[in-house]
Amino acid sequence: MDLAAKENGAGRIIRVAGPLVIAQGVAGARMYDVMRVGNRRLIGEVIELRGDKASIQVYEETSGLGPGEPVISTGQPLSVELGPGLVGSIYDGIQRPLDVINAQVGDYITRGIDIPGLDREAKWNFRPRVKEGDQVQAGDILGTVQETVLVEHRIMVPPDIRAATVTHIHLGEATVVDVVARLEVQGTSEARDVTMMQRWPVRRPRPYKAKRSPTEPMSTGQRVIDTFFPIAKGGTACIPGPFGSGKTVVQHQLAKWADSEIIVFIGCGERGNEMTDVLLEFPELKDPKSGEPLMERTVLVANTSNMPVAAREACIYTGMTIAEHFRDMGYRVALMADSTSRWAEAIREISGRLEEMPGEEGYPAYLGSRAAEFYERAGYVECLGQDNREGAITAVGAVSPPGGDLSEPVTQATLRIVKVFWGLDDRLAQRKHFPAINWLTSYSLYVDKLQEYSRTHVHPEFPGLRTRAMALLQEEAELEEIVRLVGVDALSVQQRLDLETAKSIREDFLYQNAFHELDTYTSLEKQYRLLGLILFFHDQCREALAKEAPLQELLELEVREDIARAKFIPEREMDRFSSLEGEIRQAVGKVTASTANR
Ligand code: ADP
Repeated sequence: MDLAAKENGAGRIIRVAGPLVIAQGVAGARMYDVMRVGNRRLIGEVIELRGDKASIQVYEETSGLGPGEPVISTGQPLSVELGPGLVGSIYDGIQRPLDVINAQVGDYITRGIDIPGLDREAKWNFRPRVKEGDQVQAGDILGTVQETVLVEHRIMVPPDIRAATVTHIHLGEATVVDVVARLEVQGTSEARDVTMMQRWPVRRPRPYKAKRSPTEPMSTGQRVIDTFFPIAKGGTACIPGPFGSGKTVVQHQLAKWADSEIIVFIGCGERGNEMTDVLLEFPELKDPKSGEPLMERTVLVANTSNMPVAAREACIYTGMTIAEHFRDMGYRVALMADSTSRWAEAIREISGRLEEMPGEEGYPAYLGSRAAEFYERAGYVECLGQDNREGAITAVGAVSPPGGDLSEPVTQATLRIVKVFWGLDDRLAQRKHFPAINWLTSYSLYVDKLQEYSRTHVHPEFPGLRTRAMALLQEEAELEEIVRLVGVDALSVQQRLDLETAKSIREDFLYQNAFHELDTYTSLEKQYRLLGLILFFHDQCREALAKEAPLQELLELEVREDIARAKFIPEREMDRFSSLEGEIRQAVGKVTASTANR
């Protein structure tokens, strides 16, 4: 055994500490190479090299593993398989398909099991986009397959091929390992066989031509987000989720309604059964636009908390690499990670095992740079390939600050990087204000960048409306303080009107029922009309007040009921907003006229 092990370049385990295994004498061990550890051939990755000792984080339960067992290097970095079959899959953190594993070996993953990420047997109908003799380069689309009813998978020339000539192209059925194209690489006589499957190391960002500054919103149909705290396509956001604050509903709404073609949801080891809920709930969701199951354009990467901590560390990268692959095809991808706090905890645990110097709350000093590296992989890019297509990854990371304390290290590290903060607030949720996104603590650094889009694609006055509404909400918070101290009588009529309008913005605009057929989604145009209507009433009232009309009479006008119901106006009946404005003008005019006659 010993001799044989040496001949194969195998090393030996010298120590096992939870998910961390120290091995000695592994031939050719390099940082981040995947190792097969122990007699059971558990999967692990080198995260530290010192002399001839390698520290390996093992992605599987290490109990029963002991010193002396063999360790061999696969010579490959931790990689994912990219190709048709990704969409609709539910993977663990190292891309093992959970459903296949379940079917084969039951609920608990048998250790050391080798199940490929992509099904080797499935046949896909390859439709070529190039012909023999064509000149191609990295990123060019060689052909497509209809992966699901909602997603066309584009088979691309691998990123390392600069220029090549197509010498053979396939038509019709093929598996992911069948050759679909043969390329003659220019400047060499090398022929490259291209399959629909490509492998990519998860920790290395996939290349693109150029990154663009995001200028387009990723609309979500959620009014508080799109109007007040918008996220750009290719942008980054953070959402804290105190228990019961409505985080799941927000995530589901984003998955369903966000203006993106592909969803990658990374479920990163939440406590208890929360991940199991994700595994059960996500497959139930429907894509509202097509009526098909949302899984027809979703990839789930899920690590339950009973999986080893190291797999939690990896799942973020596995998910991101899959997202990049679809971005490279020219898709807009929405990537959601829940919760990145569990990922950070995994990093902390491994760092502790490596006996590194702990920083704040035990997190290693590199927590911030790790988080930054992750979010930097989001963005709006010009893809490789000659067709100038563009793709985007918009990344939304949930954090779970213990006790809702946003000053803790993971939240702080995240907020230094991301550009949007949706401050989910359990107090708002208790008051049944949904979505419970606090309008006073939330922010979006994209507001200015997206103004041009709002002006040209929605309405020139939309940005102005937003600014006014935001100012009223902030004024409300200040006035409420005064009212609490000295009573409402201390306020001028104008200020009282401001309070009423702020309340209307909260109740008639910000409050949005995810479970109401018409309220669940609001287009940007309707958001503009709705907010416009509320502020139109406000302006009419201000004018009337200036002419001494009594505030109470204005507030009792029946037309206010119509404003409160305006959110239920169907998207097709947008002119009803214009007629409502007419009614408001008339009703307020009447009050003013009767004041003048008194
Ligand atoms: P969390 O995931 O934070 O524990 P959930 O997302 O499950 O919380 O939300 C808790 C409950 O709050 C939901 O079951 C639902 O009744 C209510 N809720 C949350 N968001 C909305 C919303 N946008 N519209 C209506 N009800 C909501």
